[in-house]
Amino acid sequence: MTYADTTVIEHLAQSRNYRGWRTPDLVCEADNMRGQYEDIAACPFILEAETPTGCTQEEYIDDSLFYLRASIESILKEINRRETMQLSNVILGKSIIEAIKEKTGEQGLIDAISWYCQIETHHNIWKFKCTVHGDGHDRDASGVIYLKEIRWHCYGCNKGGDIFDAVMHFEHVPMSEAIKKLARYTGIDTRPFQPKPIPQAQGGVIV
Ligand SMILES: [Zn+2]
Repeated sequence: MTYADTTVIEHLAQSRNYRGWRTPDLVCEADNMRGQYEDIAACPFILEAETPTGCTQEEYIDDSLFYLRASIESILKEINRRETMQLSNVILGKSIIEAIKEKTGEQGLIDAISWYCQIETHHNIWKFKCTVHGDGHDRDASGVIYLKEIRWHCYGCNKGGDIFDAVMHFEHVPMSEAIKKLARYTGIDTRPFQPKPIPQAQGGVIV
């Protein structure tokens, strides 16, 4: 892994849209890594100031480069992981749903229910006042959020499910609308996958 690889990896991350996964986080990381390479190359006086006592400047540079290479490898690994996921999920809709579920998690479900209902928590039991049944007056908080399962249930409506079911239930919209809303919320791109070639000018070889 070298300085040039950061450019290639940044471009890889930019050009990939893994049906449900956007990669701006990886683009930022690659950019950040390149900046650190530039610091090491261009600012020896900064390094001198940063070098911890009991360590030579060369050792410090070696350590920094080791850290940078490890970071770049992890970015590349993540790109590959997302690519594998893309290939294994042929059905567009399924991939987006899985990506949204993975990104939102338990906090996302709490957030989504809080868009519609008042949430109460006591001894790590999460409940909410349902706004659907009983003309929206739910004094006893009939809804429960099961964080471990990342699911919810309203015992007044006798309805429940995952984050998509929550949006459909409380907004009275179909699944397609729930996907759109949650894709926007998570920053997940729902456009079809369109790979772009890596320009030769970007240079560098990933080892
Ligand atoms: Zn209800």
